[in-house]
Amino acid sequence: MGISARVSKYMSRPEQLIITGAFGGTHIRLAVMSNKGRIISKVDLPTKSFSSQDQLVTTLDVEMRKLEGGKDARFGGIGVPCPINEETGEPAVPHPANITKFGFQGFFSALSDRVGKRIFAYNDAQTDAMGEAMFGAGRRHQNVIFHGLGTGYGVGIVIGNIAIATEFGHAPAVNAGVDEAGDKRPCGCGSRWGCAEQYASGSAFPRSLASDWRTAEEVGKAFLAGNHNAETVVREAMNYLAYNIAIAKLITPGALHVIGGGVSLIGEPLMAVLREQLAALHNKALVAWPDIVPEVALSELPHDAGLLGAGVLAEQSAGI
Ligand SMILES: [Zn+2]
Repeated sequence: MGISARVSKYMSRPEQLIITGAFGGTHIRLAVMSNKGRIISKVDLPTKSFSSQDQLVTTLDVEMRKLEGGKDARFGGIGVPCPINEETGEPAVPHPANITKFGFQGFFSALSDRVGKRIFAYNDAQTDAMGEAMFGAGRRHQNVIFHGLGTGYGVGIVIGNIAIATEFGHAPAVNAGVDEAGDKRPCGCGSRWGCAEQYASGSAFPRSLASDWRTAEEVGKAFLAGNHNAETVVREAMNYLAYNIAIAKLITPGALHVIGGGVSLIGEPLMAVLREQLAALHNKALVAWPDIVPEVALSELPHDAGLLGAGVLAEQSAGI
């Protein structure tokens, strides 16, 4: 199968430079990329080293100039781990989880004013989804759904050349079975009804009843070594993921589901468990169109999908 129409149209645009970035709990990443999908220069800044909005704006201004190296990027995009207010274009929550002690009100308008070019904000599942759809595992597919299993569980959907962020990671309905058993884990989003994120994300791994480990990485290693308890933890997480994939199938039945985030680094053995769980759901006929089993694939850009996707989205927002 060749590349999708979305990719071939995008790649035929004239080459230009775009500022791109990703805000996370441990690192703030900033880069200059070409719109052909190449990261030209990048820098990682420790998130904890920033104590005020103004300090962060000042540092990003200096770092952007260094990364541009005398060449001028005309606009930029940055992914943040929270919903975006569609009217203001700013993070919709004043203190995005896992990011900073200081508030984010008006941050992107202050940053754009300082650097003299528009820097757009996007939800990070939206940027990951677009990065994979344009340059990674989804480049041959028209519709791509990205599931990022890391500290949280973000889900972004690309339909044609439109990328949207969703709140599938906070879907409580899929946890009906768990709720009956009385296991309702409160979530950072404010819900107390057992969001999928509390069972399927990397940070949920060590909290699972069968878990003997402190981190998802340790669970992953034990799983790959054939440990029975670790297998139970991974199977439970992939069961939730399979439920969410079954729900997402109602939106786009033929989409490719790309699995990313730290958990995806476990690799193909993880996908084998996910495919088993999907097959089990289909055998129970709990899903619409049981003959269509959704196609799943590992992320091909576990480190750079978010940066590349934020650049593509910025180019769309700037109308270039
Ligand atoms: Zn939640």
